[in-house]
Amino acid sequence: MRPSLLDPLFAPAAALPGIGPKNAKLFDRLLDRPQGARVLDVLFHLPTATLDRRARPKIRDAEPGTIVTFEATVTEHRGGQSRSRAPFKVLVEDDTGDVELVFFLANPEWVKARLPVGATRWISGRLELYDGVRQIVHPDKVMDAEELARLPPVEPVYPLTEGLYQRTVARAADGALKRLPRVDEWVAAETLDKLKLPGFAEALTAMHRPSAPEDVDPAGRAATRLAYDELLSNQLALLLIRARMRESAGRAHVAEGLAGRRLEAALPFSLTNAQRKALDEIRADLRSEKRMIRLLQGDVGSGKTVVALIAMAEVVEAGRQAAMMAPTEVLARQHFERMAPLAGKAGLRMALMTGRDRPAERRETLAALASGALHIVVGTHALFQESVVFADLGLAVVDEQHRFGVRQRLALAAKGQATDLLVMTATPIPRSLVLAYFGDMDVSVLREKPPGRQPIETRAMPIERLEEVVAGLTRALAQGARAYWICPLVEESETLDVAAAEDRAGALRSLFGDAVGLVHGKMAGPDKDAAMERFQRGDTRILVATTVVEVGVDVPAATIMIVEHAERFGLSQLHQLRGRVGRGAGRSSCLLLYRGPLGETAKARIEILRATEDGFRIAEEDLRLRGEGDVLGARQAGAPGFRFARLEVHAGLIARARREAEVSVEGDGRLVGERARSLRMLLYLFERDEAAKLVEAG
Ligand code: ADP
Ligand code: MG
Repeated sequence: MRPSLLDPLFAPAAALPGIGPKNAKLFDRLLDRPQGARVLDVLFHLPTATLDRRARPKIRDAEPGTIVTFEATVTEHRGGQSRSRAPFKVLVEDDTGDVELVFFLANPEWVKARLPVGATRWISGRLELYDGVRQIVHPDKVMDAEELARLPPVEPVYPLTEGLYQRTVARAADGALKRLPRVDEWVAAETLDKLKLPGFAEALTAMHRPSAPEDVDPAGRAATRLAYDELLSNQLALLLIRARMRESAGRAHVAEGLAGRRLEAALPFSLTNAQRKALDEIRADLRSEKRMIRLLQGDVGSGKTVVALIAMAEVVEAGRQAAMMAPTEVLARQHFERMAPLAGKAGLRMALMTGRDRPAERRETLAALASGALHIVVGTHALFQESVVFADLGLAVVDEQHRFGVRQRLALAAKGQATDLLVMTATPIPRSLVLAYFGDMDVSVLREKPPGRQPIETRAMPIERLEEVVAGLTRALAQGARAYWICPLVEESETLDVAAAEDRAGALRSLFGDAVGLVHGKMAGPDKDAAMERFQRGDTRILVATTVVEVGVDVPAATIMIVEHAERFGLSQLHQLRGRVGRGAGRSSCLLLYRGPLGETAKARIEILRATEDGFRIAEEDLRLRGEGDVLGARQAGAPGFRFARLEVHAGLIARARREAEVSVEGDGRLVGERARSLRMLLYLFERDEAAKLVEAG
């Protein structure tokens, strides 16, 4: 159970000052907690900028475009009958110059009362020069000396949602800070010392009540402290889960490798060295008593599927079953169709199981899995269901990992006793980040690609040259080519994405008629499959798609990839998309259509894509560019799965967090050392509850 000390933080945010029945929903939306935001969410909602009110210039020296706070005397009220549209103006001056305060749609009586002629006031706001006149439109503050004394010199600026105001969020955050319990330090003294980190509470306080803009800088000490806490909780959780999964000692799958050799012989190619090396690593795990928890990392097209199939064959030869799980129906079906003929040649019985099987089929598959008559099953998350029982599951393969979290890994592994686990991902991850995402696993990498791949010609073109593109496409289609046309991401709205894709498909249909197919994320599963199949068979020759084709889809005959609004995609995403072509014998090309003008980062992205097809290099560059994006002021949210840690800024902390976690977690999965108690607190604070529960007893 969560320590009761933390209860105040997990109480509803609605109890905080400034949050009432009216705006509670807005906070839920802002904090992305539809079931109700908690105090913790408010506390962890950090400002991304500041308003610096420290400048106290004389009026003459005040710099236009900056926020200034100055003392002045009111000399004149101008215009503005209460119903008139003209703004009401107040002229103020000090001994060096004057400023016009401008109020639109304000009640003049109210303004006059706050700023009576002859009175001296402190004014704070953004000064602008308008036709040579110094102006402040709606000053942020009008204060007397006493109020000035209470003015925070630097104000936090929070990300907002429509209907919420800075001051409301700031007030709630202040209330949340007051509920922060005293907790013991969980970070090692050496780390605190070396990185000069403040304490946890101190860091949160510095960010919510900044005294200088540096206090909210992602690379500053306060943000670094919180990122480190998060990375430490992440590493602890991964190590605890790793220990738990290894706790039931694995089983040795004893096989001579006959089935594997038969499979290899049936392949129309020979394995690459990288594939062989990965297989050796996997075989060693399978044959040992140790439970395998391994990640197979390989770029698109590096040949992971064959490696997995041979591994599954080994396990079957040892008398056990294997399961392969894919994130979508399309991919599960594709895996099945590609593997089944090979498996047949090696005498392996394989079946497909998805959420759409007919009941009779499903019953039959289930019975065969339970009896052991079936050796290998390929499917979607349907494989998780309670009703799926294996006679003896020895190996679970999970494809395209990034859609499966730690929880799913645990659930699938729980299907068999000490089931070995092989996770495959086609998202190359920079070495520095592997620990953050897969720190509970051993890693095999396929860096080399199968020989004979032709380079993909990559070009970028402004959308204005669409006609040329269509003309080129017409010529290519006449020669039998097949093309993907990827439609833009519209402000992360799936509905708008779909509309854009439908529009593009409509426009292309008016030129190419029935040769145009469409597939998008909002389509029902069977329709999606049908659209993919028509393209696979060549019934349609242009497939207009949203990014649903990004992961894994394999149509070797497709040689053209057109990406519309390429400037809206990330580097790794573009690389994944490009990886959909260049899979067959034909020469392939990738055309990045952009809407200019391109920023520096977008230009750099396109340059890198043109320069290399090495996904690992691209991933490293992506990370570097994101880092630079930050320097240029373009803010990024935290990395996937992280609230505070931005890997382009904080990746350097991961190794240290790992070492610190290793010292605290015993091989048998207990938290040890003087900080064990506070580390458990850390796990709960960062909501690594699954991991925290593993050490409940300890
Ligand atoms: P991944 O899943 O890693 O993206 P796949 O397993 O789908 O890659 O393999 C991509 C293509 O390369 C498939 O058509 C596969 O048959 C082929 N392939 C795999 N290994 C080799 C190899 N060693 N030599 C030649 N072709 C290979
Ligand atoms: Mg694959």
